[in-house]
Amino acid sequence: MNSIHRKTILEVGILLKTQQNFVIFGHVNPDGDAIGSTLALYHYLKSKEYNVFVIMPNDFPDFLKFLPLSSDIIIYEKQKKEAEKIIKETSLSFYCDFNEPKRLGNLSELEIKLDSIKVLIDHHPQPSKFVDYSISDTSVSSTSELIYEFISQVENSATVLKEIAECLMAGIITDTGLFHHNSSNPRTFEIIANLIKSGADKDLIINQIYNTYSYDRMKLLGSSLFNWMRVLPEYGSAYIYLSKEVLKKYKYQIGDTEGLVNYPLSISGINFSALFVEHDDYVKVSLRSKNSFDTNLFAREHYKGGGHINASGGKSFVSLSETTKLFTKLLSKYKSEIIEQ
Ligand code: 5GP
Ligand code: MN
Repeated sequence: MNSIHRKTILEVGILLKTQQNFVIFGHVNPDGDAIGSTLALYHYLKSKEYNVFVIMPNDFPDFLKFLPLSSDIIIYEKQKKEAEKIIKETSLSFYCDFNEPKRLGNLSELEIKLDSIKVLIDHHPQPSKFVDYSISDTSVSSTSELIYEFISQVENSATVLKEIAECLMAGIITDTGLFHHNSSNPRTFEIIANLIKSGADKDLIINQIYNTYSYDRMKLLGSSLFNWMRVLPEYGSAYIYLSKEVLKKYKYQIGDTEGLVNYPLSISGINFSALFVEHDDYVKVSLRSKNSFDTNLFAREHYKGGGHINASGGKSFVSLSETTKLFTKLLSKYKSEIIEQ
């Protein structure tokens, strides 16, 4: 964390004391880091007796619902009126774990008009300029790590409340894929140590997130790998494609395909993996790489999306079969970048 960020953190820390009504936003299809980081900040501001709300554009996976006070999170898709009233009254908004207003989904139009002080806390590359204060650092594992830096610096304490520690631990663990990636900086482990000292139970959190599959979700995983994965060794790539029928067969719930895109990367020689999931109006695209092949550029260029070098996402607006056909064609163009690294 550089000195500019430290300075911004202290400025925002002072600013907090001049405000009363806060809203914390996370991105559409919230993941562990979006929920962990926003909920941790929520616990912190609540402990300071501020009036604070967390608003997400849509619902989040059940496996994150064990997190303390996660039931307080307002889901815009389900609670429009309530969310709109809160947003109107807010004087300071935090944007966590995303870098452009578009990532607020159906909330973005409403939110951009909002006349409040805006603070970004995020770790995605190329943030768009829509805020007053930006704590944006691509070198950290997760937004949760930045929230830890924020709270510990403002409070001048390495330990945090137990509830905060639990949320941040969940965010760091999920965004690093159980420390598989984005976690080679010793600072991440210093933070994990401080979260354990603060009372977070690492094993319990891992069990809650990774060992709570429904039987149907496990069968969907099996079927995805056995029936719906295509491996293209000549391009160092593989993809999984799931139609609406397949999802229905296994009673798909939000979060059931989380992590699925990583599996093909376990195959030797496969550096680039994609997951295509059919929705009513589009195909959701997830991309992962295990070398320096830049999935963020790929997602921006071909799927109106973005993300990080090794993990990105976006959407395709042609049919599922068209999407996989076009993807395979693209691979021949990118072959040398994917393989020779
Ligand atoms: P996932 O594949 O798990 O949905 O997303 C992986 C990464 O890509 C996350 O960092 C997420 O924030 C980002 N991402 C996913 N979908 C989109 C998208 O539609 N637009 C942008 N800009 N980023 C996305
Ligand atoms: Mn994140």
